[in-house]
Amino acid sequence: MPNQAPSATRDEPEAATGQRPAIRLSGLRKHFGDVHAVDGVDLDIPPGEFFSMLGPSGSGKTTVLRLIAGFELPTEGTIELDGRDVSRLAPFERDVNTVFQDYALFPHMNVMQNVEYGLRVKRVPKQQRRERALEALKTVRLEDYGSRKPAQLSGGQRQRVALARALVNRPKVLLLDEPLGALDLKLRQAMQLELKQIQRDVGITFVFVTHDQDEALTMSDRIAVFNDGRIEQVGPPEEVYERPASAFVAGFVGTSNLLGGRGAESVIGRPGLFSIRPEKIRIDGQLSEPAAAGETSATGTVTDVVYAGATVRYSVALDAGGRLSVVRQNTDGVFADGRVRLSWRNEHSFQVQ
Ligand code: ADP
Ligand code: MG
Repeated sequence: MPNQAPSATRDEPEAATGQRPAIRLSGLRKHFGDVHAVDGVDLDIPPGEFFSMLGPSGSGKTTVLRLIAGFELPTEGTIELDGRDVSRLAPFERDVNTVFQDYALFPHMNVMQNVEYGLRVKRVPKQQRRERALEALKTVRLEDYGSRKPAQLSGGQRQRVALARALVNRPKVLLLDEPLGALDLKLRQAMQLELKQIQRDVGITFVFVTHDQDEALTMSDRIAVFNDGRIEQVGPPEEVYERPASAFVAGFVGTSNLLGGRGAESVIGRPGLFSIRPEKIRIDGQLSEPAAAGETSATGTVTDVVYAGATVRYSVALDAGGRLSVVRQNTDGVFADGRVRLSWRNEHSFQVQ
C-alpha cells in the first residue's frame, strides 16, 4: 500500500490522477483602464492536450494567451505552469513559445537559419543547432526546404516554418494565436489537420486561439468558449456542440434554434428557453400524425427555402408561435410544400440559460 499523505494544499489536488495540469489559471483578471479584457478565468489544461479558446473578436482570448506567455501581467489572479507560479516572471523565464498569425520570418535568412535562430541566441553549439533544426523541420515535413528563403514558400509552408521555429525550443506549452487566419479556406482546412497531427506527434500542450468554430470543433480535445472576458463553457467538441450550456454558446458554436415563450410552452410542454439544432429536426407532410414515442413534433408553414447544394435550409413558422430553422440533406430534392410537420427526438431540445 502506498503511504500517501493527504494533499492539503492546492498544489497537489491531482494526486489522485497523478497528473499536474500543464497550465492552471486561477481567478485571472486583466483590466486595461475601464476595459475588463479578462474578467475572472479559472482553468486547468492537462499536459498534451490540444486546447482551444474560441470566442468572438474582443472576448479576451489574445489577452489570456499574452498573460500565459508573460507579455502582460495579471491585474489579479495567478498563472501556474506545471505547478510553478509564473505570474510575475518574464516571458523568457516561462517554458512556453508563441506562434502568432503574422509569423514574421526573417526574409534575408533561409528556412534553416530562421528555425535555428532561437538556438543561436541561446548559444547552442552549431552541430546540435543543426540537428535540432532539422528535426523540427522534419516534424513539419519541410526537411528539404532548408535552403529556401521565405519568399520562395507558399503561405502554408511559411506557417509551418513558423511552427518549426517554435518547436525547435522544445517548449512544454505552445501558444498559437489564430495562426491559420491569413490562409485561404482550402489551405486552412489542410493545415488544421496537419497541425493536429503534428501536435499528436510531438505531444506538447497546444493552446490554440481562434474565432472560427469549425476550426475549434475540428482540431481540439477541449474547447473553452469565451464571451466578454469570461469562459461560458469548457468541454470536448461534442459536448459543447450537443449540449451548449447557454444561449450564447448555442448561438456561437454552430447555428441553433432558440424556442421560447408561447411556442416553447405549447410544443415542449413547459416554459423556458430551448435550443434545437437545425439538423436534428425532420420535416414531412404528415400534419395529422401524432409524435412518435420519445419524440416532439410541431406543425407549421414553410416561409423560406434556401438551397445550398448539399443541404437545403427551411425556415418554418410554427402554428404554436415561434420559428424553427431546419437543415435537410439534399437527398431527394427540395421539400416544397407549404404546410409541414417538424419532429425531433426529445433529448435534442434542451433548456438553456
Ligand atoms: P480577442 O483576442 O478575443 O479578440 P483581446 O484579448 O484582444 O480579444 O481583447 C479583449 C478586450 O481588451 C478588447 O476590448 C480589447 O480592445 C481590449 N484590449 C486588449 N489589449 C488592450 C490594450 N493593450 N489596451 C487597451 N485595451 C486592450
Ligand atoms: Mg485576438
